[in-house]
Amino acid sequence: MFKVLKFGGSSVADATATSRVLDIIAAEAREGRLIVVGSAISGCTDGLLAAAEGDRSGLPDLQKRHSDIIRRLFTGAERQAASDEIRRLFEEMSAAPDDEKVTYGELFSTRILERKLAAEGFRTKWLDSRSLIICDDLEETRRRIRKAVEDPSVDIFVAPGFIASTREGKVTTLGRGGSDYSAALYAAAAGADALRKWTDVPGMMTADRRKVPAARTIPSLSYSDAETLALRGAKVLYAPAVRPAMEAGIPIHIVNTFCPSDPGTVISAVPSTGAAEWLGVSAREHTIYLTCSRAAGRSSEIRAAAERLESVLRAEGIAPKEIRCTERGVEADVKESVETAALIAIHRDFFETAPVDTIDLFIAGAGAVGKALIDLIGRSRETLEKRTGKALRILGIADSRHFAINLAGIRPEEAGKIPGTSPGMTEGGNFTEEVIRVAPKGAVFVDCTDSIDLYRSYTALMEAGLHIVSSNRRSLAVPFVEYAAMKAAALQNGVSFRYETTVGAALPILESISRGANSCDEVLSIEAVVSCTLNQILGEYTPGGVSFAKLLRKAQESGLTEPDPRQDLDGKDALRKILILGREAGIPLEESDVEVTPLIPEPLDHLDLESFYKALEGMEPLFAKAFEKAAAQGCRRRFVASIERDPSARTGYRACIRVTDVGNSHPAYQLRGTENAIIVQSSFHPYPLVIQGAGEGALQAASSILNDILK
Ligand code: ASP
Ligand code: MG
Repeated sequence: MFKVLKFGGSSVADATATSRVLDIIAAEAREGRLIVVGSAISGCTDGLLAAAEGDRSGLPDLQKRHSDIIRRLFTGAERQAASDEIRRLFEEMSAAPDDEKVTYGELFSTRILERKLAAEGFRTKWLDSRSLIICDDLEETRRRIRKAVEDPSVDIFVAPGFIASTREGKVTTLGRGGSDYSAALYAAAAGADALRKWTDVPGMMTADRRKVPAARTIPSLSYSDAETLALRGAKVLYAPAVRPAMEAGIPIHIVNTFCPSDPGTVISAVPSTGAAEWLGVSAREHTIYLTCSRAAGRSSEIRAAAERLESVLRAEGIAPKEIRCTERGVEADVKESVETAALIAIHRDFFETAPVDTIDLFIAGAGAVGKALIDLIGRSRETLEKRTGKALRILGIADSRHFAINLAGIRPEEAGKIPGTSPGMTEGGNFTEEVIRVAPKGAVFVDCTDSIDLYRSYTALMEAGLHIVSSNRRSLAVPFVEYAAMKAAALQNGVSFRYETTVGAALPILESISRGANSCDEVLSIEAVVSCTLNQILGEYTPGGVSFAKLLRKAQESGLTEPDPRQDLDGKDALRKILILGREAGIPLEESDVEVTPLIPEPLDHLDLESFYKALEGMEPLFAKAFEKAAAQGCRRRFVASIERDPSARTGYRACIRVTDVGNSHPAYQLRGTENAIIVQSSFHPYPLVIQGAGEGALQAASSILNDILK
């Protein structure tokens, strides 16, 4: 069985390239007999054509390049013999009729190759393609080639590509790039089992790599698709070469001489890779061809593509002279000067965005966090696609009273305009029900609300195949059975359920705890300083300075507290966080397991806000005393939620929330402003894990949600 190897001009351009070719041939020869078909060294055919036209100025350089190759590849008598032969061939070429000069390039290159292989010890034979390939007589060509390669004493036949004879016996060529055709004729006649074309690009590509740097290799093409691309300007393969290979059922493998391990392109009877997709964009004589696979090509899709192509060109400032739809794709006539720009733009639009995975989003909540998220999605699109290969698409948005759903996607700029004003908003109605009805599988439902009952829809959303990302800690701080049911529903439905944002905003707290829990690293204790408001006030307070009540009012005025600041003092928020933390560590905590010592002795809930502040002012001596005591011991006061091993407790852990005096060796001692800290002791680690940093802010929350979405 034969294998046919064809090497293009740049593969034999100089001695270094030729050495690479020799290595490839040596490796292939180990697996069977070969027919090696060679092109002229790069630039040679052009130089000879010029000489035939009377411009002989390139000839000395051509001759020198050949002798350089010989000098580098051969020594001694072999070098002498090779240079004598090439010199003789150059003389012959000079004396030859002008229309035959061009046929010498392949003689030069393949004579050198054959001599070198023989010198390496292979049993070789040079075949004169001029007497084997007869133009327009395929039968005769096949007969002659078959007879020529009969000789079993030969391991490697070497034949010049490109050249042939007419039926009348006159030397001629198969046309520019015709060596591929020669190789296909040899392969078909010899009944080869493979035709491997070695070239200077990694296969047939989605575009000409020299013009479109982002071009990608097409892994597999059907014969007919490869032929179409070749006819439309893909220079890597000479179109007439496809037919003989196809008729003989021989796959053509296009591979890169300069990187033999690249998989390249396989051209065979198998349908092209991604048959429904676009194959490539190419240009020939100022016509741009966007080509689809023969198997695809539905006329409605092609018409849609023509419109898309036109708008891509217009966006680039290119006005096509004419755009046509054919059964193999779209054609656009453009001015020569904009051809490359057009190729780049079309390639970008049709081929470079294709591998991006789209994540569809339904976002509930149009408060600060929801707005920041939508804004972030709009801003980070390109970075995101580059870094993660994923694109986010908003399909639905809702505030507490309205919602909009558009399965074609809502632009972030539009989505940012809610609530209420944007067109397509539905007043009232049930967002989640609608999402369940229309959402594509695998979409993500994002809860950035602070609703107390939205979580009741989570299970139904998960059953509809939606992933859930929540920044709403109320959804997680529900009775443990309901929490466990949501977790179970996520598992059963194969969707993810993430809520990193619910504790410490963007700090990777839950992730760190669940990593430990997943690997049986048992939690011994957790201390969480996670109340931004109280951290701020407790940090700022000095006895005898601004009163506690005034600091609280200031915090309220700057929007740092809940609308009713009493909710910050009662520890409810910290309670929710410690439940989430404990459960993440595998402890089935309930609210009733947590001992909460509020910051003020009585709730004062019955008072109106003004009276509350007054009453708080009355407690100032209490605060001052406690702070003075702490300071005297070198401590600072922090609002700490903690969980600690305690075998006597129901869950095996004791949980409490209270103001604690921490000494200067405690990680929470140094906290600034609204900073959060979390300190986890676990059985595998001699020292605690400390995570500290900004624990709030809409932008931080948005970035944390984004990370959950991407996971
Ligand atoms: N040397 C010829 C050309 O440049 C044939 C070939 O390379 O395929 O057109
Ligand atoms: Mg060539």
